[in-house]
Amino acid sequence: MTKIPFNKPFIAGKELFYIAQAVTYGNLSGDGHFTKKCAELLQDRFSIPKVLLTPSCTAALEMAAQLCEVGPGDEVIMPSYTFVSTASAFVRMGGRPVFVDIRSDTLNIDEQLIEAAITPRTKAICVVHYAGVSCEMDTIMEIAARHGLKVVEDAAQGVNSWYKGRALGSIGHLGCYSFHETKNYICGEGGALCINDPALVQRAEIIRDKGTNRQRFFRGEVDKYTWVDVGSSYVPSEICSAFLYGQLEEIDRISERRGAIYSRYAAGLQSLAESGVIGLPQIPADCVSNYHMFYVLMGSSAIRDTMLERLRAQQIHAFFHYVPLHSSPAGSQYASGDEMPNTDQISVRLLRLPMFFDLSKAEQQRVVEQIAENL
Ligand SMILES: *Cc1c(COP(=O)(O)O)cnc(C)c1O
Repeated sequence: MTKIPFNKPFIAGKELFYIAQAVTYGNLSGDGHFTKKCAELLQDRFSIPKVLLTPSCTAALEMAAQLCEVGPGDEVIMPSYTFVSTASAFVRMGGRPVFVDIRSDTLNIDEQLIEAAITPRTKAICVVHYAGVSCEMDTIMEIAARHGLKVVEDAAQGVNSWYKGRALGSIGHLGCYSFHETKNYICGEGGALCINDPALVQRAEIIRDKGTNRQRFFRGEVDKYTWVDVGSSYVPSEICSAFLYGQLEEIDRISERRGAIYSRYAAGLQSLAESGVIGLPQIPADCVSNYHMFYVLMGSSAIRDTMLERLRAQQIHAFFHYVPLHSSPAGSQYASGDEMPNTDQISVRLLRLPMFFDLSKAEQQRVVEQIAENL
């Protein structure tokens, strides 16, 4: 019985060749040949005015929090059903996450609940496109405009996903991508900040480059560079960018492969879904998914936990997902006490299935069979 891992990093094209090339170019720190190539490719393909590569999506979120000028006591509306970085990026600036429940179909923030969560202290809305499926962005952007709020898209899982013809990450004032090895397009650890509001570009470059105006110096706009703002070291190495460029060149092929895997799971589990035993992910008509994830909703948390154990016993590494932040040790201080029925009920029933570029049909078949057998 061979193990089926949950995720496995992969080579899709010229990643290793490009790393060797980066070495011969004699520049392994940031913002060399490959960092620029990646940023240009993302800008062109997704119609984003400015993309800055970062060492992680977490770093991009931290930059976004600073660019939104979130300060002590400022509130940021977000789902509780998300990864810790969505909240911690703003908490580091003194901000307070205000958690809102998710929709039961996409597991994204329920846009109908956002307006009621806005107070005079609200500074921004940080949406999360779960599983690479878009939030209801038209409604969210309209609410934000009416209240003068910034919108940050945590599109860590949403690279190469679309909403009404627009790329995720290109819709809010700022968007954040992840190229962590568990995401669709990878370089080990990596990310990008998408800057859709041109007024934020110059400060973003400064924050990313240790608080200096070095980028302006390189462009010949100032005659020396110096410390001008609070910043950090948010530039990735050329080695990571070289690997990433090899992946981004193959973005269509990677997406097609994941789409085929997604469709096979959906077909294999359809009869169980039709009989009401399990729930399957939904993709609204306005959305094009990058097929980041395939999850199954079990009938109860007990059934989910038993299934996890039984799949583990068969060497199949399925996984639960987020512990809602409002019930986490560091996040419970921000819990409002309001009910979040979808977040609480869905998070304990959700099971993510193995999903990666090199997952074979036979392996998938085994996963589907074992789910059916152990229900
Ligand atoms: C993966 C992920 C992150 C963090 O990405 P890193 O690149 O590992 O920092 C943030 N938010 C969401 C929703 C994620 O899925």
